[in-house]
Amino acid sequence: MTYRIGAYVMDTETARVGQVVGESASRVILRQPGTGLEWEADPRVLRLASRDEREAIGVHSNGTSVVGHLAGEDSVTVQADCEECQRLGRAEAEARSASNHSRAADYRVLARRHLRNVHGVAVAVGA
Ligand SMILES: [Zn+2]
Repeated sequence: MTYRIGAYVMDTETARVGQVVGESASRVILRQPGTGLEWEADPRVLRLASRDEREAIGVHSNGTSVVGHLAGEDSVTVQADCEECQRLGRAEAEARSASNHSRAADYRVLARRHLRNVHGVAVAVGA
């Protein structure tokens, strides 16, 4: 089975949802929304992500994604088409995956300030 570019799929091997960004040989290239993390998966372990699964990783129908999407964590919605948003989102995700929570929190503060100053978005804590 093949998936169109931009589709959200569940990698059942790693239990991660990714957006299809391309194909190489017999592998599908996936990108994790919000973090920009990319990985390759065997198309046989993929299936289309359900709406709940997409929302669980913070993908909304308007194409924005959420930083800090772990349950109970405060989160920041970043603009998908803004480089600075993406940079802050990646840095936050990297700090979080390295269990550097104070650094991750710093990036969430920076992302919020950037959203307010650049995009005029007031970000609710815990949204
Ligand atoms: Zn931005």
